[in-house]
Amino acid sequence: MTLFANALESIQIGVEDLLKNDDRRVLSAVRNVHAGVLLLCKEKLRRLSPDDEILLAQRFEPQPNDKGKVSIEAVGRSTVGVDDIKKRFKVFDVSLDWKRFDAMADIRHHMEHSYYKGSRERARQAVADALLVIRQLLVEALQEDPRSALGSECWTALLENADLFEAELQTCRAMLENIGWETEAAARALPDFACPSCRSALIRQRDPANTSQQKAVLICSACGKETELGAVLSHAFDETFGAEAHIAVKDGGEPPISTCPECSEETYVLEEGRCAACDFALPEDATCAICGSGLSAEEYYEHDGLCSYHAHVASKDD
Ligand SMILES: [Zn+2]
Ligand SMILES: [Zn+2]
Ligand SMILES: [Zn+2]
Repeated sequence: MTLFANALESIQIGVEDLLKNDDRRVLSAVRNVHAGVLLLCKEKLRRLSPDDEILLAQRFEPQPNDKGKVSIEAVGRSTVGVDDIKKRFKVFDVSLDWKRFDAMADIRHHMEHSYYKGSRERARQAVADALLVIRQLLVEALQEDPRSALGSECWTALLENADLFEAELQTCRAMLENIGWETEAAARALPDFACPSCRSALIRQRDPANTSQQKAVLICSACGKETELGAVLSHAFDETFGAEAHIAVKDGGEPPISTCPECSEETYVLEEGRCAACDFALPEDATCAICGSGLSAEEYYEHDGLCSYHAHVASKDD
C-alpha cells in the first residue's frame, strides 16, 4: 500500500471509530486520525524528495557515489519525527496550522494518560482540529480533493463532527461572554480558555446567567471537573500573550503578564495594574514612602510601600 493510501485509510478508520457509539473506541479514533495526519505530512515530504524519499529519513549524510560524485544518503532506518517535519515544512515553505496540529496531539497525549469520563467530547475536539489540518494538507500541500480522496462518507462525517463541536464550543463561549470580566486581558484570552485537567476547550460556567467574575464557577463540559479561574487564565495567557511576551523580553522590556504577588498565578496584567484572577490591584499612586518612585506590584505587596532599594536599606537598619 502506498504511503498516501495508508494515510487516508488511517483517517477513515479513525472516523469510523468516532462514529461508533462505543466509548472504548474514542481513544482509537484520536490515535488513528492523528496517525493519518502525520502520514499526510510524510506524503508531502515524499513528494518533495527528488526520487528517493530522502526527506522521509530522520538523518541523512553526504556520501561518495560510484560516479565519483557526492550523493545524499539516508542514515539508519528511523523516519522523520514531528520536530523535523516542522523544520522541513518551514524550509520548503509548506504552511500548516501547527497550533491546531499541536492541540490535537496534546489531546491525544492527555487521553493516553488519563481516564476521565467524557472522552468523546475531547475526541470530537481533536478530530475537529484534525479536519482543518487535513483540509490544508490535502488541498494546499498535496493538491488533492478531500472528498474524493477520503470518500464522501468520511469527509461528510469530518465536517459534521466539526460543526457539532463548534456548536458546543459556541454555547460554552456565550456563557463566558456573559461575565463582566474585570480585566481586558481576560476578555481577550477567552478563545484560549482550556480545561487544565483534560485540555478541552469546552469551559463554561455553572450558572449560565451569572455576570460576576468573582462569583463565576468554571466547569469543564468534557470531563465535568470544576476548575479554578487562576489555572485556566494562566494557561490561556500563555497562548494569548506568549508571542508578545517573547518580543518584549527580547527587546529588554517587561512582559505583559507576570506573577501575581497575591495568588501566585501568572495572571498579573502589567498594563492594567491588576490581577485577572484575584482581586489584587496596584493603586495608581503606589509610590515608595521614602524616595517617591513608582512601585511594581511585587514591591507594593512584599515591601509594605517601599521600593526594593529602600526595603533593603530598612531591613539592614533593623
Ligand atoms: Zn476537562
Ligand atoms: Zn492574583
Ligand atoms: Zn525608595
